[in-house]
Amino acid sequence: MASINSVTRQIAALEISSKPNTTRPTTTNHQKKSSQDASKIKLLNKYAAPNPFVPTHTKSSSSVSSVATVKQQVSRPPSPTKPQQKSKPAAPAQPSFDIGKYDGGFELDQESRGGKVYGDAAKELALDSSVSGPHPTREWHLTDFDMGRPLGKGKFGRVYMVRTKVEPHFILALKCLYKKEIVESRVEKQIRREIEIQQNLRHPHVLRLYGYFHDEQRIFLMLEFAGKGELYKQLTKYGRFSEKRSSRYIDQMADALGYLHAKHVIHRDIKPENLLLGINGELKIGDFGWSVHAPGNRRTTLCGTLDYLPPEMVEGRDHSEKVDLWALGVLTYEFIVGNPPFEDMSGYNATYKRIAKVDLRIPNTVSPEARDVITRLLQYDPEKRLALSEVRKHPWIVKHRSKDSLSGLTSY
Ligand code: AMP
Repeated sequence: MASINSVTRQIAALEISSKPNTTRPTTTNHQKKSSQDASKIKLLNKYAAPNPFVPTHTKSSSSVSSVATVKQQVSRPPSPTKPQQKSKPAAPAQPSFDIGKYDGGFELDQESRGGKVYGDAAKELALDSSVSGPHPTREWHLTDFDMGRPLGKGKFGRVYMVRTKVEPHFILALKCLYKKEIVESRVEKQIRREIEIQQNLRHPHVLRLYGYFHDEQRIFLMLEFAGKGELYKQLTKYGRFSEKRSSRYIDQMADALGYLHAKHVIHRDIKPENLLLGINGELKIGDFGWSVHAPGNRRTTLCGTLDYLPPEMVEGRDHSEKVDLWALGVLTYEFIVGNPPFEDMSGYNATYKRIAKVDLRIPNTVSPEARDVITRLLQYDPEKRLALSEVRKHPWIVKHRSKDSLSGLTSY
């Protein structure tokens, strides 16, 4: 964690160079992509993790006033009445990280996918974190970032690795959403709600949304950079995970879900495709509903997202936060076995039936402890499902937990 002092310095630095840049983002000529060594990984994580854009609770509730105060303090000369303190040596210059080469994707997309929206939809999508709710941020523009390599494509736009031009040059993932496409999919209210929810979440296993801004045609989300990408890709690559690795992910998921539920946020859409990995391999819940995945996604092409639905949703009954416990059970099974427990290649109906009957068949290769977690989570009656606090205390979780897992620094 960054100290208050370093966050204060970072906020001051951001304010000092906060004047909007009028030039278009340029393609940066970065060095050749090199393999990241361990120290670089740690540094990247350090600069990606703290949120420099939100005033801390020790300062005034308005970012503008708190930032201005910090600026005054920074620029004020030392008081002549106080004895001069030994001046500290200047902080070493921040190393410059290779963020890769920008491919001009935002501009390319703008031509084919851009388009204005009007009326209520335009108002709904005028999303700007500098004027929003309890955590207003600095005003941001696309020109405030050095653009780096593409990280991926989602349904509503591309995601790039970027660096803030102002010091201390934070590394972020910048995600673009096209307003016209959001309106065509009729999800403007949902997207607004999800963005507002995520901006207020702060947990080591929940991907941070540092801020957001918009122009006439697009919305940009400033997201924590998940250095190791999609968990789903790892699962596809290895087929399944060891029980140790699965257990550590489930521990982190249970931790994050406990946090979300305490804030009355039900995720409802837990599945490997919505999970990202931080630079140290730690799990990050990375999708709060606005990003329907691109074509090619396994569950879109094969059978939608049925596999993770609990019986109460399949049967059209009311549901509660306990749906996430069921999904955690499905996730545990899929991590260890390599496919979801109720998957049925003969079609939707067969999967529905298997879920409603809790037709669970656990291979003999699964350890008794893991089997116990799975069966206790995959209970038909939502009230009977193992509570998240119990998941975290379960022998299968405790046995595999490493000492520094709670600090989010576990390496896999
Ligand atoms: P999405 O629109 O969320 O589906 O994002 C599209 C792709 O971009 C994902 O599948 C990831 O590969 C990548 N991506 C999205 N967000 C991030 C992030 N915060 N850090 C790293 N990669 C990301």
